[in-house]
Amino acid sequence: MKYSYEQLEQWDKAYVWHPFTQMKTYVQERPLIIERGQGSYLFDVNGNKYLDGYASLWVNVHGHNDPELNEALHMQIETIAHSTLLGSANVPSILLAKKLIELWPGLSKVFYSDTGAAAVEIALKMAYQYWKNIDPVKYAAKNKFVSLKEAYHGDTVGAVSVGGMDLFHRIFKPLLFERIEVPSPYVYRMDGYGDEVEIVRYCLQQLEDVLEREHEQIAGVIVEPLVQGAAGIITHPKGFLKGIETLCRKYGVLLICDEVAVGFGRTGTLFACEQEDVHPDIVCLGKGITGGYLPLAATLTTEDVYAAFLGDVDEDKTFYHGHTYTGNQLSCSVALKNIELIEKRNLVENVRKKAEKLAKKLEMLYEIPIVGDIRQKGLMTGIEIVQDQNTKQIFPRSEMIEHRIILEARKRGLIIRPLGPVLTFIPVLAMTEEQMETAVNILFDSIAEMAKAVR
Ligand SMILES: *Cc1c(COP(=O)(O)O)cnc(C)c1O
Repeated sequence: MKYSYEQLEQWDKAYVWHPFTQMKTYVQERPLIIERGQGSYLFDVNGNKYLDGYASLWVNVHGHNDPELNEALHMQIETIAHSTLLGSANVPSILLAKKLIELWPGLSKVFYSDTGAAAVEIALKMAYQYWKNIDPVKYAAKNKFVSLKEAYHGDTVGAVSVGGMDLFHRIFKPLLFERIEVPSPYVYRMDGYGDEVEIVRYCLQQLEDVLEREHEQIAGVIVEPLVQGAAGIITHPKGFLKGIETLCRKYGVLLICDEVAVGFGRTGTLFACEQEDVHPDIVCLGKGITGGYLPLAATLTTEDVYAAFLGDVDEDKTFYHGHTYTGNQLSCSVALKNIELIEKRNLVENVRKKAEKLAKKLEMLYEIPIVGDIRQKGLMTGIEIVQDQNTKQIFPRSEMIEHRIILEARKRGLIIRPLGPVLTFIPVLAMTEEQMETAVNILFDSIAEMAKAVR
């Protein structure tokens, strides 16, 4: 039975509470109701076709409805959909863990979960308990985490505790554990701090001051390597990530890299850490891990961290954490196929080539007077919208300029999302050069239209 758009719209507004959405505004607009996907396109229930310029929230790798991923899923579902990892093992989770560790030299164990936030939650608990397991007296005070200004690591309470996005997190302050914030190199908004090199030096000095003073109270530093996604695609200049690693080693705190957004080819290497030859103690993976098919996340760690949890049952060193669907077979088998296809299809190198072309094409957006900054790493792009290119002043939130731009883009056949004053273009990784050109042309027209309207 096929339902009409109007019927679905009515039920959507009656029953569904959408995430990160002001529902008062939402119910005043016509919802976009997706019915199917093919390659880099999404189709709504009215048959309209859109380029997927947000990779269905930064997850889609090979495109929608990929025959080989479909096949992997079909084969698995006819075997078994799910059994538990609590006290037993299953085939796809074994094979995927082996593959992930081959991709991460220096790491040796995989702990599964099902969302990025859970992968972060696990990383934090793991880091905290690691110190307690090694020496509960000596490391009794190692209870704090350091994270960057505007950090985003997910929405569960632990992940929010290390988050730095005031808009999302302010209200929950009383629920959170202690975090120490250090500045991140948001070059566009750091006039007066010098050039990129000086900004990186300044930020690292701030981190070093904190670590020097408080390392005995700090369990770990958590960072989104190379790009702070949800903060508005803040791209870190070269050397910042490596600098963080060096300081973590110097002061004896664990380094947690949250690759949930940047992992699996997004920034032009399979993992962002590769670009600065950084070897974290704990890594969080999610989003692109299943190619955008199913929820799955993983927290990877070193033999050293893992070994701290080994002991006799009565020593209480066990890691008491788990989720019902940990290591789900459907998710793991699709993830394994996703990685095989990334390799077989030369996806990462293609991303690099396409990213170069995209960078050239994006330049034209600077002609529009409300485009303040364009930031890009691989196929992760942020376009910061301002009232004035000189003052860098953003528009009042109530004007919803960025929201209006994305509605313009939708009319023209492109789906993107704003993050505050930043428009993000984060395409399906397999999107073709021609499709990306079309997308940037649509972006141009949509932003230019708004620039005219606000004149
Ligand atoms: C999206 C994201 C998360 C949270 O992942 P969910 O699957 O939404 O819980 C965590 N960290 C980063 C860097 C992210 O971009």
